[in-house]
Amino acid sequence: MIFYKYIIITPMKSAKKDIRAFTREQLRDFFVNQGEKAFRGNQVYEWLWKKSAHSFEVMTNLSKEIRQMLDDNFVINHIKVDRMQRSIDGTIKNAVQLHDGLIVESVLIPTEKRTTACVSSQVGCSLDCKFCATARLKRMRNLNPDEIYDQVVAIDNESRLYYNRPLTNIVFMGMGEPLMNYNNLIKAIDKITAPEGLGMSPRRITVSTSGVPKMIKKLADDKVKFKLAVSLHSAIDEVRTKIMPFNEHFPLSDLREALQYWYQCTGSRITYEYVVWKGINDQKKDAEALVRFCKFAPSKVNIIEYNPIDDGGFHQAEPAILEMYREVLEKNNITVTIRRSRGKDIDAACGQLANKS
Ligand code: SAH
Repeated sequence: MIFYKYIIITPMKSAKKDIRAFTREQLRDFFVNQGEKAFRGNQVYEWLWKKSAHSFEVMTNLSKEIRQMLDDNFVINHIKVDRMQRSIDGTIKNAVQLHDGLIVESVLIPTEKRTTACVSSQVGCSLDCKFCATARLKRMRNLNPDEIYDQVVAIDNESRLYYNRPLTNIVFMGMGEPLMNYNNLIKAIDKITAPEGLGMSPRRITVSTSGVPKMIKKLADDKVKFKLAVSLHSAIDEVRTKIMPFNEHFPLSDLREALQYWYQCTGSRITYEYVVWKGINDQKKDAEALVRFCKFAPSKVNIIEYNPIDDGGFHQAEPAILEMYREVLEKNNITVTIRRSRGKDIDAACGQLANKS
């Protein structure tokens, strides 16, 4: 009897596939289908997600033939740091070019002991906060998990290069609403935290949301281990809807209920980001509403400085008003920090990311 070896005929050369869209199991299956050992899939997966390889050529524990075969079938669509700007305070802003030419921004924020990466989750943003420069770009598309991961790697490299230490923290406070790109966000964080990925602790990652109640509940159901921050800015519906119009569809009562659910499931403290503007939320009743909103669980309020965007419709409240907030919050045992912005000279501060560079 004659045995014929199976010949795998690949169709006429079609567009190469993005290898980072494949799970580890799919890579293992791919190798098995090619008549190779499954563990080759693990090796490639490590090159991609642990060692952040940009090409197949560097995968030196694979034979030249296998590397060639991978190159014939796949691409690695890694991002390119198109332009890097450094602020006088040490903050670095990267304009990051994606494989289709679109640009997002990410920021490296150094402090004495930490380096924090502020990364984007969407090109533009789906929400319409009146005080935010990114909102004006509208949402062009969601970032893929690898595009989120690559921003983190780029900042880690810069931190090692300029500050002699690895990245320590990640905040999803760049462009976009992370919870409107839920699946890709979770996949990216998985690669960043998994031992076969970058191995960072999820406790050093904060996802910031404008407050999408259904998705906050989903985070709780999915038992995520990272931290949650909510950009609240007002705990009074009428006021919040004026400055964050989507609040009309996701009112504070729904947000509050979702946060209660989050706290019940995770026991994890909630951080609120809050800007105080003249004539908008600068009265005692505003601070008291904030206390009523957040005192159900251990909370921290970060009062952040307003970074003016072009048109001058919003003005930062005076320091005395911020002190009034501090007093009201502290009296109610709510932790409060009043933060100064970083990287303002290069438009890298909160809400200033709008591809101006
Ligand atoms: N969409 C998410 C994450 C991105 S925004 C969210 O809203 O949380 C990051 C933070 O910057 C948010 O707290 C946002 O409210 C704040 N922000 C937006 N524009 C700002 C501005 N001009 N000055 C100060 N903070 C701003």
